[in-house]
Amino acid sequence: MLTYFKDQKQAMIDEIIEFVRYETPSRVKVAVDALGAVMAEKFQQLGAQVTRFEQNEVGDLLWAKWNTDAPGKPILFLVHIDTVWDIGTLEDFPVRIEDGLLYGPGAVDMKGGIVVMLTALRGLIAQAQLPNRPIQVLVNTDEEIGSRHSQGLIQDIARNAALVLVMEPGTPEGALKTWRKGIATYRVHVEGRAAHAGNTPEQGINAIVELSQQILKLHALNDLKYGTSVSTTLIEGGSAGNVIPAKASAYLDTRFMHLNAMERIANEVMNLYPFTPGANVWAEKVHHRPPMEHNALMRETFERAKAIAQAHDITLREEGSGGGSDGNFTAAMGIPTLDGLGPQGDGLHARHEQVVISSLATRAALIAALLQNW
Ligand SMILES: [Zn+2]
Repeated sequence: MLTYFKDQKQAMIDEIIEFVRYETPSRVKVAVDALGAVMAEKFQQLGAQVTRFEQNEVGDLLWAKWNTDAPGKPILFLVHIDTVWDIGTLEDFPVRIEDGLLYGPGAVDMKGGIVVMLTALRGLIAQAQLPNRPIQVLVNTDEEIGSRHSQGLIQDIARNAALVLVMEPGTPEGALKTWRKGIATYRVHVEGRAAHAGNTPEQGINAIVELSQQILKLHALNDLKYGTSVSTTLIEGGSAGNVIPAKASAYLDTRFMHLNAMERIANEVMNLYPFTPGANVWAEKVHHRPPMEHNALMRETFERAKAIAQAHDITLREEGSGGGSDGNFTAAMGIPTLDGLGPQGDGLHARHEQVVISSLATRAALIAALLQNW
């Protein structure tokens, strides 16, 4: 199979370029839908049944299915066609190939991963080697903004799966990601009382001073050795230079390796008490994605994949990431999940985003082997 996929190298390069030229920022629905239509057509050409889940604010979600009547639990691919890059990025960050690297916005995160998956499926189907079990792809369109619109559907569809394959990029060295931190974000609000800063400062309750104390208290929850970070990332407050501020708020980004850390932080953040008499302080949870814990199931799933890869002369290694993916949801549900199956690459969300071209064939062969042997 590896020889077959090596022969597909130019076709894979061409298809990545085709996808990158569709600029697909998560919040521009029409742009994401344009690539979604291309994806739906490609799935149909490969004989899949395609269901479209219409969305109002983000691109429509797609669910492609092969072998719907076959026995056994499905293997489910999770991919996302949105990127962090705005429309127009291609003008000053065009696609280019240099020294075996393909550069472009979204090239590795994750259009390269989508091409690897499609190539593996195409190869198996062409050689009549697609295993006789249900195989599915869920195409997400808002992963880069936290999968708020898609989380429910991902969880519903993944519930049934024997294995979830997440086509996010591997590490620069090509390792899979067997743990990912979870994320929870909050907004902390303080309400005090406005007063003239010159005439009657004693009548004011300074919301900024109160918020500052809260921020320092929350900052003390950092436990970097344990993988827990609590970061105040945005702050606003006050109304004029000569007014004791009545309002202030801060945005909090928290990350953690384990669910218990998530719960411990949530408990602190959601139960803040004012330092200043008369001030009101409260927090709202904006968003959260549970951690992909490096637990027994994760280790077992990776070991099984590693053995399958080894039998095909592919060496698999594992690492982790501080950033989340849709794999966080499925891993937290106790579904065997492999993440970072996309090509090797670097510069995610950065101006040097790149795919290592030589890794494309190996990854396609790996995907084909996993489908056949799981
Ligand atoms: Zn991604």
